[in-house]
Amino acid sequence: MQYSIWMNSKDQNKDEWKRDFTKLQRAGISNIFLSGKIEDLENALKYAADFNLQIHAWIFTMICNDENIINQHPDWFTVNGLGERSHENPQYVEYYKWLCPTHPEVHEYLREQVKKLCKIPELTGIHLDYIRYCDVILPIGLQSNYNLVQTKEEPQFDYCYCEQCRSAFKQKYGVDPVDLPDQSKNQSWLQFRYDSITNIVNILTEIIHQHNKKATAAVFPVSMQKNVRQEWHKWKLEAVYPMLYHSCYDEDLEWIGKEIRKGKQLLKSTELHCGLYIPAIESNKLMQAIEIAINNNANGISFFDFNAMKDEHWKILQSKVARC
Ligand SMILES: [Zn+2]
Repeated sequence: MQYSIWMNSKDQNKDEWKRDFTKLQRAGISNIFLSGKIEDLENALKYAADFNLQIHAWIFTMICNDENIINQHPDWFTVNGLGERSHENPQYVEYYKWLCPTHPEVHEYLREQVKKLCKIPELTGIHLDYIRYCDVILPIGLQSNYNLVQTKEEPQFDYCYCEQCRSAFKQKYGVDPVDLPDQSKNQSWLQFRYDSITNIVNILTEIIHQHNKKATAAVFPVSMQKNVRQEWHKWKLEAVYPMLYHSCYDEDLEWIGKEIRKGKQLLKSTELHCGLYIPAIESNKLMQAIEIAINNNANGISFFDFNAMKDEHWKILQSKVARC
């Protein structure tokens, strides 16, 4: 059983990193998904080796808030069913500015971003997050935060209808997706978008593996794959990390076990590690959540996230390590 954690890298000094890494080591956590600037990752990596920690660069793959890119390449951004570009009219949250997974220049841009990270020798792997489309339907437990009731796919939240996507789909299936009578019911249009994301994963995984690093991804639960167009069981990764954040779906801890079983059934050689949402798990429930993951044969558990962990959570993990 491998334990990992999502963590934002910070501009921290040596003593601060050592304090954090000691905490992780004592809790039996061996893998860290670290987000942030390359300089901050490199800084953290300098101290991680002493603690036997494996660090993966955690990237928000299809999200882009880089002003230079927005100004120079507005055509790289996804277009919804109303014809609005996601960098101009982001849905749900301000940072939801999504790159189009069909655009060849986006492929090249992402390739270069990942290559840069792969050149850092001490890095164990690249962890792909936001490797998907914007949610066409939000998790049920989150809809009220945005005063939304989403019972079906609406054009406002449905992507991507940019020129690249429309012409690529038309070439393959003989029809412009805007002319489909009901886009939400068209299996080919759904598959086209699943495949566009799978294609990006394949492109990036090839580079990651060429550099002898591990390719992993944070993904949605099996029952939500369609809402974000993620056929992640077809991806050639070392491991997937479904974010089994039960509270976002108004579910209880037992649901986590059900989702692990569904995922394991779909996967062949790729490992499945269960993502736990710490803000919704009181420390006295943490062992129960861990046992559910173990009993359902998850290959590991990842905690979201470092900042959400309270002293009581750390104590539970430390006592678990002491017992092993
Ligand atoms: Zn597009």
